Amino acid sequence: MANNVLVAVRVRPFSKREIDKRAQLIINMQGKMTLLFNPKDPKADPRKFTFDHSYWSHDEYKETSSGYLEPTGSKYTDQLKLYKDLGQGMLTNAWEGYNCSIFAYGQTGSGKSYSIMGYGANKGLVPQVGENLFKEISAKQNKDIEYQVTFSMLEIYNEKVKDLLSKKKAPSTGLQIRQSPQKGFYVVDLSEVPVGSFEDVKARMGEGNRNRTIGQTKMNETSSRAHTIVCLNFKQNRIREKVTKFCSINLVDLAGSENQRQTQAEGQRFTEAKYINLSLSTLGRVIEDLVKKKKYIPFSDSVLTRLLKNALGGNSKTTMIAAISPDAENYDQTLSTLRYADRAK
Ligand code: ADP
Repeated sequence: MANNVLVAVRVRPFSKREIDKRAQLIINMQGKMTLLFNPKDPKADPRKFTFDHSYWSHDEYKETSSGYLEPTGSKYTDQLKLYKDLGQGMLTNAWEGYNCSIFAYGQTGSGKSYSIMGYGANKGLVPQVGENLFKEISAKQNKDIEYQVTFSMLEIYNEKVKDLLSKKKAPSTGLQIRQSPQKGFYVVDLSEVPVGSFEDVKARMGEGNRNRTIGQTKMNETSSRAHTIVCLNFKQNRIREKVTKFCSINLVDLAGSENQRQTQAEGQRFTEAKYINLSLSTLGRVIEDLVKKKKYIPFSDSVLTRLLKNALGGNSKTTMIAAISPDAENYDQTLSTLRYADRAK
C-alpha cells in the first residue's frame, strides 16, 4: 500500500428501522479485515478485504431521539478514535506543510456526513481537526511564529461550484475555476474566511451547512447528490527561520455513490447521475493512478479532482473512508463501495 494513501472502512450501526425489521447483518470485521457475506448465499465463504483500518459498530445499543440506535459497547469505533487514527496524522502533516485530504465515499445513509461533519455532540472530523489545530497553535504560540487559518466551504453539484459561505446569489453557471502556476486550480471569488478559534470554525461550518439546507425537503435530496468540501488553509510564518509553510486541509463529504447506477434515470436525475458517475470514477482513477505512480494523472477530467489536485498529487496525504451499511438489503452497494476502496490501496 502506498504510503500517502490510507484507506479505512467504517460500518455504521443498524438504524431503528433496520432493527425493527430484523435486518440481517452481512458484515464482520477481524482486525484490519472486512468480511462481506452474500445474503443470497450465506453459507458461502465471505469476501475478504484488507484495509488500513476496519471500523466496527456493532455491540450493545441505546436508542437515540432520532430513532437511530447508538452503539455503546466497547468494540464500537467512536468519533474520537476516528480522529486519533485519521485526523491527528493530518494535522501532523499540515504542520510539516503537506496538503492533505480526507474523503468519505459510500451510498446515501451509510455514515459519510457522520464521519466528516458529525451530528451535534458526536463531532466528526471537521470540528475535531479544527479544535485540535487551534489547541496545537496555542500550545506552540510564540512571537517568532505567525499563524493564519482560513476556512472555505463549497459544494459541487452537476459539475458546478457553489460557495457555501457567500451571501451573494450564486451564478447559474457556478463559480469559475482557473489555473495559475502558483495556486494550481482555484475557484474564482471563493470566500476564504479567517478563523481564529474553534468557535469560529464551528460557526462557519454551521453557516455552510445552513446554506446547503435552503429549501429543506428538496435540499436533503440534493445534498446526497452534491460533493461538499471543507477546506482549512493553514499558514505558518516562522519569522526567525525566514520560512513560510502553507498547506490546505480538505475534508470531503462525497455525493452518494448509489447514483452511479441510475443510468436508466431521465431528465434532472440523469444529469445528476452522469456527473456523479464522472466525478466519483475520476476520483477513483486518480487515486489508483497516483498509487501506481503513473506519469499522467487525469486530474482535469472532473471538477472535484481539478479542485483537489494540490491535495491529492505531489507530497500530499490522502485518506479515504469507505462508509458502509450493515444491512443485507444494501449488499450490492456495499460490495461496490468495498471494491472502490480496494482499488485505492
Ligand atoms: P450519509 O452522509 O452517508 O448520507 P449519515 O452520516 O447522515 O449518512 O448517516 C445516516 C444515519 O446513520 C445518521 O442518522 C447518523 O447519525 C447514523 N450514523 C452513521 N454512522 C454512524 C456511526 N458510526 N455511529 C452512530 N450513528 C451513525
